[in-house]
Amino acid sequence: MIDSRPSYAEIDLGAIGGNIHIWKEMLGKTGGGRLMAVVKANAYGHGALPVAARALEAGADWLGVALPQEAMELRDAGVTAPIMILGYAEPESYRRLIEAGVRMTVFSLSQGEAIAAAARAAGAQAKVHLKVDTGMGRIGFLPGERAEAEIMAMADLDGLELEGCFTHFARADEDGEDSWRGQLDMFKGLLARLRGRGLPLPIAHCANTAAGMRSGEAMMDMWRVGIGVYGLYPSAQARAWGDVGLKPALSWKSVLSHVKRLPAGWGVGYGHTWVAEKETLIGTVPLGYADGYSRSLRNKAHALVGGKRIPVIGSVCMDQIMLDLTGAPEAKPGDEVVLLGRQGSAEVSADELADLLGTSCYEIACLTGNRLPKKYI
Ligand SMILES: *Cc1c(COP(=O)(O)O)cnc(C)c1O
Repeated sequence: MIDSRPSYAEIDLGAIGGNIHIWKEMLGKTGGGRLMAVVKANAYGHGALPVAARALEAGADWLGVALPQEAMELRDAGVTAPIMILGYAEPESYRRLIEAGVRMTVFSLSQGEAIAAAARAAGAQAKVHLKVDTGMGRIGFLPGERAEAEIMAMADLDGLELEGCFTHFARADEDGEDSWRGQLDMFKGLLARLRGRGLPLPIAHCANTAAGMRSGEAMMDMWRVGIGVYGLYPSAQARAWGDVGLKPALSWKSVLSHVKRLPAGWGVGYGHTWVAEKETLIGTVPLGYADGYSRSLRNKAHALVGGKRIPVIGSVCMDQIMLDLTGAPEAKPGDEVVLLGRQGSAEVSADELADLLGTSCYEIACLTGNRLPKKYI
């Protein structure tokens, strides 16, 4: 069996550990609380199991995922740390999740009743976290009388333990204070009323990476750090708040498969979106959009060869891309090509690719193709 490939995603687990230390230290300075490493979506494309293991080793206390299958992948691999599903769990998954001790998110009384019933059937207690919508407009109770009544009714259900209460910010990564402050105040208001009515709700949490970066007040009993685990900043604005020394963990690497001179007038790639104006040294790389290198990067992006920034030219094919090697005349087949990450002092960052594609670094990381083998260093 051939299980390696000259094209691969390299994940620096040392960087993951270092980033966790940075966030733990920041958390420690504000009075403590738990650190949740958010490893949903296969750890933002980095590989859930190795990242989860390293994050826990480096001091993360909880793991956050989006889906039941993501939670069970971790449990089935022997991860014993607390795991919480931040999104929707379908009723068919309740029983297995309860037996595996996975925390679920609830945002309606009927859901709480169904989870409680599944817990009683399993002879177990289901720990759940109430989700409150303070301004994200997706899942969550809308604060108010009706939500409080539903939550109080849920507190009486046998089999259900209301362990936590949380919300999520829509604009914590932007410079303005009003939006996230308003959400925080709304959340604290509801929390105070519920606690005043006798619900302990011991683990209250609201901060994502950005919110915790801007205020210790948002960290509460647990800080849910996602993008920051991977060494990326939530936004350009958040990056400008100060360099906290993060190290990106993800690179995409390959090699030159073919290097040749094309004559003037020769077209490159489907549609001939690039045509040689003069005789040009062209390199081919065995990695394409099926590996996560978006087709929309054609004639826009740069790759690194010999420590230099080299233009990606012509269409991005499913399995191959082409480079104009004019700036690296010594390049030869087998030389390393970096599509994302560093080579010498040159860098193609996730933010750079995100800007070219009109998206965020979150999506760039998640684009990492399943077909790319992952190498952990
Ligand atoms: C994804 C997610 C996070 C992590 O957000 P980052 O911006 O990546 O830190 C935190 N909380 C919830 C509910 C999420 O869905």
